[in-house]
Amino acid sequence: MDFELSSEQLQLRRAVREFAEAEIAPHVLAWDEEQIFPLAVVKKLGALGYLGSIFPEDLGGAGMGYIEYCILIEELSRVDGSVGLIVAAHTSLCGNHIFIAGDQEQKRRYVPKLSSGEWIGCWSLTEPEAGSDAAGTRTQAVARDSCWVLNGAKTFTTNAHYADVCVAMAVTDRAAAQHGISAFLIDAGTPGYRTGRKENKLGMRASATGEVIFENCRLSGSQLLGRAGEGFVDSLRVLDGGRISIAALAVGMAQGAYDAALSYSKQRRQFGRPISEFQAIQHKLVDMATSIDAARLLTWRAAWLKDHDRRVTRESAMAKLFASEIAVRAADEAVQIHGGYGFIKEYGVEKFYRDVKLCTIGEGTSEIQRLVIARQLLKD
Ligand SMILES: Cc1cc2nc3c(=O)[nH]c(=O)nc-3n(C[C@H](O)[C@H](O)[C@H](O)COP(=O)(O)OP(=O)(O)OC[C@H]3O[C@@H](n4cnc5c(N)ncnc54)[C@H](O)[C@@H]3O)c2cc1C
Repeated sequence: MDFELSSEQLQLRRAVREFAEAEIAPHVLAWDEEQIFPLAVVKKLGALGYLGSIFPEDLGGAGMGYIEYCILIEELSRVDGSVGLIVAAHTSLCGNHIFIAGDQEQKRRYVPKLSSGEWIGCWSLTEPEAGSDAAGTRTQAVARDSCWVLNGAKTFTTNAHYADVCVAMAVTDRAAAQHGISAFLIDAGTPGYRTGRKENKLGMRASATGEVIFENCRLSGSQLLGRAGEGFVDSLRVLDGGRISIAALAVGMAQGAYDAALSYSKQRRQFGRPISEFQAIQHKLVDMATSIDAARLLTWRAAWLKDHDRRVTRESAMAKLFASEIAVRAADEAVQIHGGYGFIKEYGVEKFYRDVKLCTIGEGTSEIQRLVIARQLLKD
């Protein structure tokens, strides 16, 4: 076993941290307040190679692994969870679905543009009536005159309103249930494809979340992604990787909340001494630091397994479940350590408290992670 990051990984962490502190930190409050999608920063991330981290260089990617991807998402999310979420949905949901299920032509058409940030991607599985039970998808694709005609609506799609390409799941054979759902590639501007309501959210407010609508949307046969009927099964593979990024997102926000709480506890004085000298505060910091370390190790284990082409269904669900739950607690304690100032926007920790809750919901709720893990445990 080797718990040390390589010099390249350490350099990546330094570079992303410097970028996040210089280019993101000064704007976090305003973006959150006004729900501004940080398009210019997303484009800069593309120019730096951070939007195609996990894709091979011959497809325009950076040729990194999931460990590096976790470092990237963690460092962005330590400063702003919204930016981490934008990159995660773009990379390990949209881009990776194309990468693992697309034919050579689809990969060549989409992955380089997604990697450079020329195009932004989104991934639509969830529907108003099909959330945790995603196999209950209602959006339908009917084969007609060698085309597919899509009708239906998706909800809660991250990046929807800024996406140049959307990967969406639709039923192509209702009788085949889970094996009758297919994935499609839809370019922005395709007639019959549009975005609907953009949600006003509790947290992650700089990321755009909203509806995707299909009204007699005609797609050519080449817009089918993967084999007909395999879209749902491919989605589960996509989510195995995606959940590692949500775990990294949670670790990053927990670390950001902890860093703020540690620094504040050394400055804030009550009863004639810094509050960090009180054992009650020290215990909170200890529990936060310990649980963040444990969550990061679970996340890196899942990433390492993924990098070694191993099945990660159980490990990515464990990492996502544990990291998101401890991150919610860490953000709560960070507010508590700040006392009344924790309630005030300028101190930053209330934003972690709001943002981090998404990690126990997106890409499968904590209850669904437990269900996934239980299935794996009982199967073994
Ligand atoms: C900010 C944000 C961004 C998102 N981004 C995307 C995206 O980019 N693409 C996308 O496709 N989706 C996205 N989602 C959707 C997200 O994945 C779903 O919200 C999530 O899977 C839960 O579905 P639901 O909201 O319909 O809740 P429901 O499925 O209705 O769940 C409600 C409650 O019931 C519980 N529950 C449901 N079934 C069971 C069960 N069998 N056992 C025990 N408890 C159960 C759930 O855990 C939850 O507590 C996003 C959501 C948010 C909020």
